[in-house]
Amino acid sequence: MKEKRIGILGAMPEEINGVVSLLKDKKEIVKGMRTYYTGTINNVEAVVVFSRWGKVASATTVTHLIVEFGITELIFTGVAGAISKDLNIGDIVIANSLVQHDLDARPIMKRFEIPLLGITELYPPKEVLDNTIVRIGELVENGNLINLLSLIQQEKFSLTSQKVMIGKIASGDQFFSSNLEKENILAVLPDVLCVEMEGAAVAQVCFEYGIPFVIIRTISDAANENSVIDFNEFISQVASKFGLEIIKKLTK
Ligand code: SAH
Repeated sequence: MKEKRIGILGAMPEEINGVVSLLKDKKEIVKGMRTYYTGTINNVEAVVVFSRWGKVASATTVTHLIVEFGITELIFTGVAGAISKDLNIGDIVIANSLVQHDLDARPIMKRFEIPLLGITELYPPKEVLDNTIVRIGELVENGNLINLLSLIQQEKFSLTSQKVMIGKIASGDQFFSSNLEKENILAVLPDVLCVEMEGAAVAQVCFEYGIPFVIIRTISDAANENSVIDFNEFISQVASKFGLEIIKKLTK
């Protein structure tokens, strides 16, 4: 059997820096404008890299992880804009299904269908998903994760409680920053919890290569007119911390 080697993809450089500091025997390999960091975390081999943004970039990065580094499983963390009214900034979404919301080859295929695969959604393996749900649940219980932030930060982002939701994530090459964009996606994908720009592309590559994956997103903004302000402040102050704790918990 192939030795376990975890690929850790982060959608933010800030997040990657923290994870890289967990690596023992760290080495750096630069290729294709990406810096891959190899080493071990808790005696398990790991490769850590910033995905870069958008579907093409992130699909390329994960392909490189699989083909060149021989990863046997993948964890992806990043931020996302909330579509579901039940989500607040700081909540965590674990994808049980992923769709490329900008994939539309009608009339030759149905909307969202991935050419040649004949499916519209991708799913993480049940065992990996279940395990992730348990661990992330432990991480946020009793406000443990929020309490790592200063009181000022908790207040600033109104982080009084934090929930974890499991459901559908939609990905595409679009940053959602208006209520109209939200309404439009809800009209065609009513059960989408949040939107981002990489997850479903990464999931497709993992599916095609038979690599178990899990995609976890922290809500950074409400995908509306406020999203740019919320997003930038949240990333620098909160998301990088949460991302690191998520990876620590999943690699324990
Ligand atoms: N910080 C960068 C932009 C990052 S692109 C800059 O300012 O130049 C946006 C990243 O956040 C992507 O990883 C995307 O997946 C995620 N994201 C967060 N909120 C989003 C939203 N409202 N719509 C789409 N993607 C969002």
